[in-house]
Amino acid sequence: MLLIPCPYCGEDRPEIEFRYGGEAHVARPADPSARTDAEWADFLYMRTNPKGLHAERWRHTHGCGRFFNAVRHTVTDRILATYKAGEPRPDLSSPEGTPSASPQGSEEVGAEAAAERKP
Ligand SMILES: [Zn+2]
Repeated sequence: MLLIPCPYCGEDRPEIEFRYGGEAHVARPADPSARTDAEWADFLYMRTNPKGLHAERWRHTHGCGRFFNAVRHTVTDRILATYKAGEPRPDLSSPEGTPSASPQGSEEVGAEAAAERKP
């Protein structure tokens, strides 16, 4: 089971307490009415799909209920860092987020299980 450290509760909790909330740091355009339909569609639907480190929103639905961000490696499914909403993404400059660089480790899960879990 994947353990996720909630930055608000301050402890590792089982993944079944959390909900994935999509890519983090996607800012709403300041003046939506000034955007073209294509620009608005890009904002609504287009997301990155990296092979490697990915900043994501998560919610501790069966805990404190708060939203936070996590940096997860999409190949190993390891969460390398979690941080409160509004805080900047931490600098994880280690190559490809190697497991030994994980300050808040979690159990490794296969890519199939990760894909199955995502909405
Ligand atoms: Zn929490």
